[in-house]
This record gives sequence, C-alpha cells and structure tokens, in this order.
Amino acid sequence: MAETKTVLVHIKRQLAPDQKPYWEEFELSWRPFMNVIILLREIAERPVTREGKVTTPVAFDANCLEEVCGACAMRINGKARQACSALVDQLEQPIRLEPLSKFPVVRDLFVDRSRMFENLKRMKAWVPIDGTYPLGEGPRMAPEVQQRAYPLSRCITCGNCLEVCPQVNERSDFVGAAIINQVRLFNLHPTGAMHKRERLEAVMGPGGIHDCANAQNCVKACPKGIPLVESISEVNRDAIRQAIFGWLFG
Ligand code: SF4
Repeated sequence: MAETKTVLVHIKRQLAPDQKPYWEEFELSWRPFMNVIILLREIAERPVTREGKVTTPVAFDANCLEEVCGACAMRINGKARQACSALVDQLEQPIRLEPLSKFPVVRDLFVDRSRMFENLKRMKAWVPIDGTYPLGEGPRMAPEVQQRAYPLSRCITCGNCLEVCPQVNERSDFVGAAIINQVRLFNLHPTGAMHKRERLEAVMGPGGIHDCANAQNCVKACPKGIPLVESISEVNRDAIRQAIFGWLFG
C-alpha cells in the first residue's frame, strides 16, 4: 500500500492575552498546493492534536488570501510573513507557526495590530477632510510623482517590518518603517503636501525618525517590496531640512 504523505505542524497557542503560551502538534494529510491558511482551516475542521487529543480550533486572522490585506501575518519557521503565500511544499517540516511578537496576542496566532493604526494617526499620515460637503476635484498629480508614489502606496499594514526591527521593542516608542513610509507617501501627494510641515514635526518627535538605528531589516521583510530604507532616508532628509531652514518659511 502506498504511504500517505503528511504535514507536521507545531503551533504556539495562547488562549487569552493574559494566559501562558504553550505548543501543540498536528499531523495532517498532504495535498498539492497547500498553503498555511489551508492547514489552519483543516485544523479548524478537525481540531485534534497529533497525540489524538481533542483541542480547540486555532485562532488566526485572514481575509483576502492573496497578499493584499496584510491580516494573516505571522511567524512561519521563525520568519515574519503572510500565511496565504506560504506554500507548504516550500517549508521545512515541522512547520512552526507563532504569532508576531511585537503586537499583543489576542488569541493563538491572532494579534492586535492597532498600534500601527494609532501611529499612523500620531504621525498624521493621512489627508484630513474639512467637512463632508463636496470639495471638487483635487489637484492633478504629475505622472513622475505617481510613479514614485505608487510603490509606497502598496503597504498592507501587515507589520512584518516592525516584527524584524530591533528598535521596535517594549522599551521604545518607535513607530517603525511602515509609518515613516506613509509619511513620505502623503508628503508626496499634492493635497497631502499641504500638511507636510505638521507631519514632519510629528515625525521628528518621540518615537519618530530619530529612533531608527538603520538596521535595514525592514526592507528585506516587506512582502510588497517597498523601498523602506529609501523612504526613511528621504523623510530624515526632509525633517533635517525643516529643522534647519523651517523658520525661513514661517
Ligand atoms: Fe508590511 Fe511592507 Fe507595509 Fe511594513 S511596509 S507593514 S512589511 S507591507
């Protein structure tokens, strides 16, 4: 009889934010083209460990399943990446799944990434709308600027760049590369540029650009290939220019 191929998975479980983590092992039947999301769904359908103990389904976050929403970021064999694009056949076994470590665990592999959204607000990485009445067309954007802005706009707020950054830790308030990249994006936008000054002031404050130690891990971990080091360097240059010459422009 032909031997059935299986997939071994070790998952770091945590039932609630204040509970201790522990590991569980699962053994599943192999199927072609499996990714980590399929593994987790199969465990949810039949939550039984390798030893035959009935357990609870593993909690995880996912949405688009095509590396666009950023929700399924986790550590897979120690590397921060998206579960939807992690193919089982390309992973060493046992496959180790852990939650991202720079965010509070809600349950199992599901983390609370709201610090990223709070930091976007803190660094004013948006275009404020004054009222809800029609504002008419916005200013036109030159094609060269569109070309520079597009790669920066591909951020999916997955948090992988924060996960690999040594400056993002419990002793620091550093917002991380994704947020600084968004500062650059909004400063480039003709409407966003109207608030460039306030944005640069925010980015020069606590947890901002000066907390970056130039480890450059972020750019290697980004699934969207965003030029994060270039963004940090450009925002840093603009911030220094504003700090030195800002008084000239009142
Ligand atoms: Fe994820 Fe890249 Fe955005 Fe960081 S910059 S949150 S790694 S997509």
